[in-house]
Amino acid sequence: MRINVIRSSMPSFEEYTEAIRPLWDSVWLTNMGANHEKLAGQLCEYLRVKNVSLFVNGHMALEMALQAMDLEGEVITTPFTFASTTHAIVRNGLTPVFCDIDPNNYTIDATKIEELITPKTCAIVPVHVYGCLCDVEEIERIAKKHGLKVIYDAAHAFGVEYKGIGVGNFGDASMFSFHATKVFHTIEGGAITTGDEELIDKLRKLKDFGIKDEEIVDGIGANAKMNEFCAVMGLCNLRHVDGEIEKRSLVTKAYRQNLSDIEGISILPVQKDVKPNHAYFPIVIDEKEFGADRQTVIDSLEQQDIHTRKYFYPLTSDMDCYKGMFDSSLTPVAKHIADRVITLPMSASLTQDDADRICGIIRSCKGAGKQ
Ligand SMILES: *Cc1c(COP(=O)(O)O)cnc(C)c1O
Repeated sequence: MRINVIRSSMPSFEEYTEAIRPLWDSVWLTNMGANHEKLAGQLCEYLRVKNVSLFVNGHMALEMALQAMDLEGEVITTPFTFASTTHAIVRNGLTPVFCDIDPNNYTIDATKIEELITPKTCAIVPVHVYGCLCDVEEIERIAKKHGLKVIYDAAHAFGVEYKGIGVGNFGDASMFSFHATKVFHTIEGGAITTGDEELIDKLRKLKDFGIKDEEIVDGIGANAKMNEFCAVMGLCNLRHVDGEIEKRSLVTKAYRQNLSDIEGISILPVQKDVKPNHAYFPIVIDEKEFGADRQTVIDSLEQQDIHTRKYFYPLTSDMDCYKGMFDSSLTPVAKHIADRVITLPMSASLTQDDADRICGIIRSCKGAGKQ
């Protein structure tokens, strides 16, 4: 049977249809309906944050959070992420300045942030990539010292906690993605979490065309609201998400057991004091030590109908739309990882036997050379 890199979690058909039935009576399909409000409230509790503003997707949430902060100039971020992070910065008329990543968790290397700060720097947009926690304490120290805003791309970090604190509490704001491919989803969806009430108020208006009330439009907003059908999917999925993360943890365990002793394959170390969400399982292949390159492993798995992804390759700074604008040799660790990484299949529906089989195929590639 085909194994994809991800597989969306679904509530039962009956659970979802039962939950959307009242919409045929209320005929309130979007615009902050009852399910939207209920989901926002439940997410506040689950993520242990003060405020949640729901969005049509994670990307628009990030774009609007940056817009709401009235930023100008340069934003320090990483190129080892999904296109969305960099696009959100650029689409706000801001200039991304790429910082290298930490080889131990692939998030922004906080020791390299300060050397990139100029008089034009206004914010830092770090990414909790794969659900790995950024060095939130050091980033906070730097931001305070230099008067910078911090907006986390927490698209991968749903449910992650650090010393019992929900990941969405760090920085001035955090963006979560509830896309179908993420640990928790609303089909399409996203959110901003923040302790800043004024920001929440601005976002409520911005995602609804900047409308303050019936006669006053005081922001140049757009349409980025979450509809009721998506909110209901979220309410259903939230009931099961702990169980789904638990199942994912067994896959992580099987991968770790099978892969930790293979020379030439690196896996990420477990982060201290961090409650993980098992969103992804990346491996990095050192061609010399392993005796085979990344493509050989990808192709061997593909032959058995197992599909992996090169998340994240290319670096956003190397994407065609940014040709000639950035120099990825200035972020050598990010470049090194992007050239060698594979994300293995990861979902709650994967069994430990699947994981064992996948690892067996990877192991059999050792010393196979280039294909
Ligand atoms: C998924 C993702 C986004 C965008 O979220 P959408 O909900 O798909 O718009 C942004 N950043 C990262 C790192 C992501 O993985």
